[in-house]
Amino acid sequence: MATETQPEQKNISDEAAKTDAIAKDIHVEKERVGQTRIPKPKGVTADSKVLWSYVIPVVVFHLLIPLAFIPYFFSWWGLLFLPVGNYIFTSMGIGAGYHRLLTHRGFDCPKWFEYTLATLGVCSFQDSPARWVLVHRVHHQHSDHQPDPHTPNVSGYWSHMGWMFVDNADLSTAAAYDKYVRDLMRDKYYMWLQRGFNWVGVYAAHALLLLGVGFGLAFVFAPENITRFTAQFFFWTVIMRTVYTWHVTWAINSATHMWGYRNYETREDSRNNWLFALLTNGEGWHNNHHADPRSAQHGHRWWEIDLTYISLAAFQKIGIVRNLVRPNSSALDRKAL
Ligand SMILES: [Zn+2]
Ligand SMILES: [Zn+2]
Repeated sequence: MATETQPEQKNISDEAAKTDAIAKDIHVEKERVGQTRIPKPKGVTADSKVLWSYVIPVVVFHLLIPLAFIPYFFSWWGLLFLPVGNYIFTSMGIGAGYHRLLTHRGFDCPKWFEYTLATLGVCSFQDSPARWVLVHRVHHQHSDHQPDPHTPNVSGYWSHMGWMFVDNADLSTAAAYDKYVRDLMRDKYYMWLQRGFNWVGVYAAHALLLLGVGFGLAFVFAPENITRFTAQFFFWTVIMRTVYTWHVTWAINSATHMWGYRNYETREDSRNNWLFALLTNGEGWHNNHHADPRSAQHGHRWWEIDLTYISLAAFQKIGIVRNLVRPNSSALDRKAL
């Protein structure tokens, strides 16, 4: 059942007004349905085309995983790089950039910093900023109801990755982009990334750059083994890091709508999942996030560590980030369980 959002309140801040401007015309689900089986979104039918441009890279990258167990490619420093690469590219790019900034406008910052975060997000190979934000805004609007692009109420596999592989007609029209991401489509950089597969070109360019960095490091530190070191560097910093960060991010759509505890009564079945909160540097406090989507701070209790928020607070201390949105305690108290 859908219902209109409340009209704008007079005393809302500029930041809230910005989000309301994005959210106007948007209807939100009112009731929580719990973990009930539901059909796929109406935009997905038996005739929906398979999106091979998504299927092929995901399959190819996964087919490369066994190389990690071959001594030529295995490397301890490569393995240790995964959480570091996850922090740099995915927590800063997807968590801070695509999610807390572009989707929810949880803070303000100069354009150069916004574009840096968004570009790190592009280097996580999780679609263009406009597409990612569109899907996520629809998720917040219809969480765990049929129009939700990726609810586990369809199936665990569907919510984790299946939803990406078929065209959802409701998400790919010009009208959907106009309704949900008009703010991003007015921006030249996000428009350019959106055009054709420019965003894939940026990902490929960063992969080539890391290949060059690996070659340079091999030249200095492992001149007797340049080919092997370069191959290992590329394999762990690009291929394995991308696959690792895909799964920890996708788990926010799947695991944190199935397993974990709830601090707040919300319209959907979101959960706080400590394992994925740890692996995503804060995104896993997902019930907190659904209870107060604009807050840039997802960890609400003292032990709900949110490294992404801590990083943004540090950027605020040095004057790059401004107006970091904190949890709205009076609204949250009313939802507390
Ligand atoms: Zn969610
Ligand atoms: Zn969100």
